[in-house]
Formats: sequence, structure tokens, C-alpha cells
Amino acid sequence: MRGQSATIAAVVNAVREDRLWQHLMEIATIGATGRGGVNRQALTPEDAKARKRLLMWAAPRGFSASVDAIGNVFIRRPGQDATASPVLAGSHLDTQPTGGNFDGIYGVLAAFEVLEAASDAGVVTQRPLEAVVWTNEEGSRFQPTTMGSAVFAGALPLETALATTDTAGISVASALAETLQDLAIPQQRAFRFPIAAYLEAHIEQGPILEAAQQTIGIVSGIQGLRWFRIEVTGEEAHAGTTPRRIRKDAFVTAIRMVTALQELMYDEADTVRFTVGRFEVTPNSPNTVPSRVLFTIDLRHPDAAILIRLGDQIEPMCRAQAHGCGVSVVETLNSPPIAFDPAIRDLLRKAAAHHALPHMDIVSGATHDAKYMVDLCPSGMLFVPCRGGISHNEAEYAAPSDLAAGAKTLAEVMLELASNHP
Ligand SMILES: [Zn+2]
Repeated sequence: MRGQSATIAAVVNAVREDRLWQHLMEIATIGATGRGGVNRQALTPEDAKARKRLLMWAAPRGFSASVDAIGNVFIRRPGQDATASPVLAGSHLDTQPTGGNFDGIYGVLAAFEVLEAASDAGVVTQRPLEAVVWTNEEGSRFQPTTMGSAVFAGALPLETALATTDTAGISVASALAETLQDLAIPQQRAFRFPIAAYLEAHIEQGPILEAAQQTIGIVSGIQGLRWFRIEVTGEEAHAGTTPRRIRKDAFVTAIRMVTALQELMYDEADTVRFTVGRFEVTPNSPNTVPSRVLFTIDLRHPDAAILIRLGDQIEPMCRAQAHGCGVSVVETLNSPPIAFDPAIRDLLRKAAAHHALPHMDIVSGATHDAKYMVDLCPSGMLFVPCRGGISHNEAEYAAPSDLAAGAKTLAEVMLELASNHP
């Protein structure tokens, strides 16, 4: 019998860059837009087709599939101990309407590559290895984002998710029923089944790794997010006859607020993410003083205390700039930052170092399914660079060698976790 490190090395060596790339390119044909990207939104026929392709690759390997009530699909390579909880890795394969060929699907196929490599190496792990496809991570057709993992983890009631409709009035329940019928997976899986550890590989979707010439990002956590909706109320008046002194100009007031907030949010380290993404002016007429402005704030930071402090200053800051206009500030979303398990981060760091891959710690600016797994089991994520930091874009691109490096790192950590049976 081989020692554990030799076993792990055999699996890592069996990870194939060409096969991983070929799988990625094959899935990229499903929902291809003809402009280099894909439109494979959640619970569409394209989503079902991509899942079926994966099942088609799994079957001859002898991997079994199961599905839960929100459509999350689990592909299992059994371990020696059938009662042991699995080491799970994966991501999503739905995309934005003009999505790229790597966001989400890379994490699914990297996990699947680890299962295949383990089989090619003829290795028997103690724990089962499983690859997961989470339903509707993107949230472009059905809101919210990360729906499948949220329902799995108990953060979103199943009934609420099923009742959600798209803009055509089609519910998740009916779209899911069609997808499940198409997939025809007999084995049902419960939510929150015991999991030994969860890992997710993903393209960075930002410019940091590429700029630093690093291959592997050890994700320390996912930054927190607060959303605000600010409504400024003034008074409509004739643009030609009303002197400045007596105006209640909602637009000028809103601009003053945004400028003051911009200064408040300034940090030398450039860690705060502050965005005014929507700005609606009423009545939006060239010769009327605006009576009402609605604007939104998207505020993000990895440090919970800083996110609380900055977010809580938004309302008093707006009030201080109101000068006679009315103002209402409503917080519409509050998602605290999460931190990944230090032991998993350590394993990822050691694995990257072991394979001489340049690596660095990095905070995730975007949300991911892994966010909901931290409450269930030790969890972690790794990033690989994507060209120009471009994502949610048909031009999204990641190099085959970087993708393979991420899969090798994933393989090393999954095998480490799957072989150490207590
Ligand atoms: Zn994604």
C-alpha cells in the first residue's frame, strides 16, 4: 500500500490540463452566443443540457448522481468508508445573459477533474469525493443570487425560492420541474447532509492576481455588502423664474450628499468599495427644478467593523447635507463579511507552495456559493487569474495552464481531506 503523500501525488499528477480545457470548451458550446460567450441562465434548457453533459461524463466512470429539492446536483466517487461524510467541491454552471466561458463552470469541472484523476490514478480514498453543481448562482433570471446554496444551507426557505418568478412570470418551481424531468436523476439528497469540507475553485473576476503575477489566490473571505436606497424630496419650480435662494432642488442636494459620502468613504488602501449605481431624477425635464431624486448605494468591505461604521454614517451624512430638502435612507440589504476556515486556507497555501505555484492571499470582492457553506463545514476557496480581470463578459478568458494549476491545488487539498479519516 502506498503512503498518503504518494497517493496524493499520484492523483495530482493525473490531473490533465488538456481534458479540463476540452471539458470547458465543450460546455461553452451550450448556450453559445456566437460572440465568444454564453447565455446559459438558470433552469433553462441550456442549463439542463450542460448538466446532462456532465452526467454523461460521470456515468462511464461509475460516479453516481443525486439531486436535492432545489436542483443542486451531486456527483459522487465513493470512498472506502460508505458512512463517511464526503469532501465536496464545486460551483455553478449558470451564467449571466452575456456571460463568459469560465465563471462558475470552472469550479464544477475542476472538481470533476479531481474525481477523474483519482480514478485514473487508481486511488481509493477513505471519504467519498463529490462534485456539486449549485442551482442559480448568478441570480440574473431568478433573484436572489446563490439561490441553490442558500436553500441547501437553510438561509433561504425552499418555498420562497420555488415561488420566485422571472420577468416572463415563470416560477422557479415550474422551471425546476422541467429541468429535473430532463435530468432524470432518481437519487434524492437531503439538504444539509453532513459534509467533511467544502472547496470552491473560481476565476478571480478581478485584476489582482494577474497584476501581481500570481497563479493561485488563497481566498481569505468574502467581503460584506450593504445596500441603501436614498430618496431626496425637494419642490418642483420653474427653471426661469425661481431664484436659487428659495429653491428646494433635490438634484443639487443629492449631488452634495454623494460628494460628501465619496469623501467619507475615501481610504488610502483602496479597500472600500462605494458605488452609486442608480440615479433617478424627477420630473427629469430640462426647465423644471427637480423635485425628487432617488439614488442607490452599494457599499462593500471585508472588515465587519468598518462596514458597520461606514454604513451607519450614511444616513446622518445625508441629513447633514439636506438643507431644507426631505431625505429618507432605507437599508435594503445587509450581508456581513465571511472568513474561510484557517486550516483549509493553510492546506491550500501548502499545496500551492508544494507545486511551486506563485500564490497570495486575496479577498473575494464578489459573492460565491461558498459563502453559505462556512456555517455547515470547514470551507475554502481558491482563485486563478483571468485576463484583464474581465468577467460577467463574453470576453472572459483564463489560461489553460492556470486553470490546471488551480485544479492540481484543489486535488491536493481534496485528497488530503479525504484520506485523513478520523
Ligand atoms: Zn461565479
